[in-house]
Amino acid sequence: MTQPADDAAPQRLLIATRNPGKMREYRQLLRDAPFELVSLDDLGIPDEVEETGDTFEENARLKAGTYGALGGILTLADDSGLEVDALGGEPGVYSSRYGGDSIATDQDRVALLLRNLDGVPWEKRTARFRCILAIATPSESHLNQQLTLVVGSVAGMIQYEPVGDEGFGYDPVFYLPSFGKTMGQIPLSDKNRISHRADATRKAVPVLRRLADQG
Ligand code: IMP
Repeated sequence: MTQPADDAAPQRLLIATRNPGKMREYRQLLRDAPFELVSLDDLGIPDEVEETGDTFEENARLKAGTYGALGGILTLADDSGLEVDALGGEPGVYSSRYGGDSIATDQDRVALLLRNLDGVPWEKRTARFRCILAIATPSESHLNQQLTLVVGSVAGMIQYEPVGDEGFGYDPVFYLPSFGKTMGQIPLSDKNRISHRADATRKAVPVLRRLADQG
């Protein structure tokens, strides 16, 4: 017996972002998963959730929980950043705000990072990008929402000078030993195979499929 067309329609998945670049990245990362991806703007959700958490986990939970309840559909939210071992894990959760309000561009944040690592020898310049994804089940309230977290990471070294203009953020100083290049020198198709977001998304797909099947 043939299924009615509606049954074949993919389930909607809210990607809790307004960043078109990130949306593009997720469209590519989730291209084989059976979901129709929608953004906050697609759903007309104007609310801004402040990232007040002290950890990636807290911020990802906060965003998935709040936007999930506002959207009422299966929701995926992320938080990510750079952890540098010689700086005790900084900039970490503050990656996008490193140096405070006086610093306005990614380029200046990279320059601050390099100044803070001045004199640190190569073998101590280990770092990783981390990405936490929080998935919230469809719900109109926080009360009966189920939240699942998955973690992704990619290891590298902070090189002495920025090189490459692919990517964004700290990519030009994030040296990948396996490529012999920075993340800013490799094409997006390669970044999307090895990045912290790719790693986390691969782990998220079976969770999303299971939750979608539960209805
Ligand atoms: P968010 O997850 O979009 O809030 O990212 C926080 C910050 O971490 C960004 O503003 C960047 O500074 C940094 N970051 C996260 N992912 C990447 C990446 O793939 N490349 C370079 N920087 C990143």
